[in-house]
Amino acid sequence: MNIYLSKEIGKYEIEAVLKIFFSDEKFCFLLPVNDVIGNYIRIDITNSIIIKVEIDNKTLERSEQLKETQKENILTACRALYEILSGITGTKSDWGILTGIRPVKKINGYLAEGLSFEHIRDKLYKEYLVSEEKIRLAYLTSEIQSKYIPIKENNTFSLYIGIPFCPSRCSYCSFVSHSIASKSAWKMTDEYVEKLLKELSITAEITKDLGLKLTTIYIGGGTPTALNPAQISAIMEKTAKLFNISDVFEYTVEAGRADTISEEKLRIIKANGATRISINPQTLNDDVLKKIGRNHTSKDFYNAYNMAVKLGFDNINTDLIAGLPGDDIGSFCQTIDGIIKLSPKNITIHTLTLKRASKLSNFTELYNESEVIHRMSEYSFRKITENGYAPYYLYRQKNNIGNGENVGYAKSGYESMYNIYIMEEKQTIIACGAGGSTKIFEAEHDKLTRIFNYKYPYEYISKFDEVLKRKQKIYDYYSK
Ligand code: SF4
Repeated sequence: MNIYLSKEIGKYEIEAVLKIFFSDEKFCFLLPVNDVIGNYIRIDITNSIIIKVEIDNKTLERSEQLKETQKENILTACRALYEILSGITGTKSDWGILTGIRPVKKINGYLAEGLSFEHIRDKLYKEYLVSEEKIRLAYLTSEIQSKYIPIKENNTFSLYIGIPFCPSRCSYCSFVSHSIASKSAWKMTDEYVEKLLKELSITAEITKDLGLKLTTIYIGGGTPTALNPAQISAIMEKTAKLFNISDVFEYTVEAGRADTISEEKLRIIKANGATRISINPQTLNDDVLKKIGRNHTSKDFYNAYNMAVKLGFDNINTDLIAGLPGDDIGSFCQTIDGIIKLSPKNITIHTLTLKRASKLSNFTELYNESEVIHRMSEYSFRKITENGYAPYYLYRQKNNIGNGENVGYAKSGYESMYNIYIMEEKQTIIACGAGGSTKIFEAEHDKLTRIFNYKYPYEYISKFDEVLKRKQKIYDYYSK
């Protein structure tokens, strides 16, 4: 679709609004011309703000008065465009036109300016068209986080260890994860672990030299428990030997899929100091599990969960997904109720994300119903908070279906600090392994600098010298 914008309008904000309604459409941004045919949108900010939308021979036009600043003009144009397109398509977003920024960050920014809750609510509701419900969710999350941030420490860090392997690939997966279902793919894991141990050694040397104190560890994936017991043991033992883990107050292992969890692996994880694990059913509906290609049943999940409890894991997270194909509101609510009955310390509700890498994006029966996501999200927020949990981190992704969000809920005192650090970008996170990115936090300037590792395990292995070279850059940033 052609979008005509007068010169001084940033296309970024306008495109973000358009994506709410036409997620698959390609837009061509042009300067306004006089003779236009077909579907188009035209926005002029000159003596007034004029928005003209021509879709299927229907023309809608709106005019608004100029505001004091160009930023306000653009915001007004975005609001008017949203209202026009919402009227035409019948689609509404609970997050209104709040795009491209983390909602909690926005609220934290307003709080830092000294704005009251009423003032913030008014701004988000009237200027950004965010629903009352989402304002409450974001505000509650910000309140919980305020117990832990601002963190102004330049001398601490968290360690991320990436294991980008899974026993098979779920059809909705949009992560960088390699299926090790075949023998040849499995072979790669030994070399990967060997390189990873080397990277951990180098990282430990660097952080020791710089006098950095390790506070949290997160072994994520992929599915770290897709590795065999010896490999898991090698990684965790080496980590404990290399780093001073006496100051580590949170150590998470994302066990993930129930089909990879065994008593032996859980014992290794516990013996090596993990304080928190994730066991992720995504749904308790077996038909849906089958449809999304996860090779486990809800019974497998319950077995793995109960085994972990029996072995003494008292801080367990369970990830669920709203909007899975084949799921419906009734079955999603049953999943929420079933998980609440287990009383895990953390429950994370994701909204399905569809990226091009996912096999699901080729499915014809795609969920694109903001109403379904709205109801799932509303139910999970209500039920989970009624049962003693509070939201403590929240983020949105470009490709969340139905303009939904991802929310981490926790019982008081069990909020994952690693998740808060990574979401709010308030601590240095050093990543080892494929797919990770190191983020160096400069407290004085509230700024993050990133150093990327290679995405895929085969790249990580073949370009390992470059991985180690990039690690040395950590010195440069700290010596500045
Ligand atoms: S378990 Fe997670 S990372 Fe692995 S394939 Fe499934 S969605 Fe992707």
